[in-house]
Amino acid sequence: MFKFLQQVGDYTKQSFQAGRYIGQGLAVTFDHMQRRPITVQYPYEKLIPSERFRGRIHFEFDKCIACEVCVRVCPINLPVVDWEFDKQNKKKKLNHYSIDFGVCIFCGNCVEFCPTNCISFTEEYELSVYDRHQLNLDSVAMGRLPYKVTDDPMVTPLRELVYLPKGTLEPHELPADVHRAGLFIDDILDQKKSIVI
Ligand code: SF4
Ligand code: SF4
Repeated sequence: MFKFLQQVGDYTKQSFQAGRYIGQGLAVTFDHMQRRPITVQYPYEKLIPSERFRGRIHFEFDKCIACEVCVRVCPINLPVVDWEFDKQNKKKKLNHYSIDFGVCIFCGNCVEFCPTNCISFTEEYELSVYDRHQLNLDSVAMGRLPYKVTDDPMVTPLRELVYLPKGTLEPHELPADVHRAGLFIDDILDQKKSIVI
């Protein structure tokens, strides 16, 4: 009899517990039903990368002294520094430099430790290619500076994720004259100007 009562007690306890967990799950669901969708209409709109964003690395050939510090601090010894000794000037002469961005983990060690600051991160993140070997960039490809999101006339830069107007679920059906709840970069700049005045 006692065993039976204990079983009933356990069952009741577990039922309450299950009910509580279901309630907790549904609370999250109902909370999200109240929120409006957030979207960036890529590639027509792009978020401005943060200041310390680690995108594709930029390389300045003339500043590199072929010290190979970047190779030693890289967790996978990735940068390829091809140099020869210039007997006349008694200095290393850089011939070729490359990094395979298909393998790079963008940890930033090479950028951090380079003694001449000839490598730096850019805000370029669109690195998709059909063949991963195309991501093995040489010094010429790495010497190119990316086009800034804020300078691209084809792109509307967004500083942050913005909400669609209330009741709108499909961003592509939004009329051009309807502004969203968040601010576009021009609005933010206008606001800043008015504060300075
Ligand atoms: S650490 Fe800097 S200077 Fe030295 S080889 Fe690497 S990129 Fe060149
Ligand atoms: S970012 Fe990191 S993984 Fe990539 S080359 Fe530099 S040190 Fe190596």
